[in-house]
Amino acid sequence: MKCPDCKHEFRLTVREYLREPGGRHNCPACGTRFRLKYSVSYVVLLIMAEIITAAVPALLVFRASNNLLLCGFTFVVCSLVFVVPLDFYLDDRWRESIKL
Ligand SMILES: [Zn+2]
Repeated sequence: MKCPDCKHEFRLTVREYLREPGGRHNCPACGTRFRLKYSVSYVVLLIMAEIITAAVPALLVFRASNNLLLCGFTFVVCSLVFVVPLDFYLDDRWRESIKL
């Protein structure tokens, strides 16, 4: 990610990602507080990834088992395995930063 103030480029750590789920971070070089922009393409990509990798498998599990709890568990596990790493990648390398 890139600081909107001093243009310093740095890698997002897993610890920082988990500590700031709203996408607000501090630049390690100048200390500027900034947030990551929600673009239409980012939101559409995440929704599509959620549908393909979590909702469809969860619906297939529900159809096979008729168990709503197992369906919800499948949705959560698939989201954690596929969508959260994608969101981390997009936060670090794709989303634009905006100074607060
Ligand atoms: Zn900076």
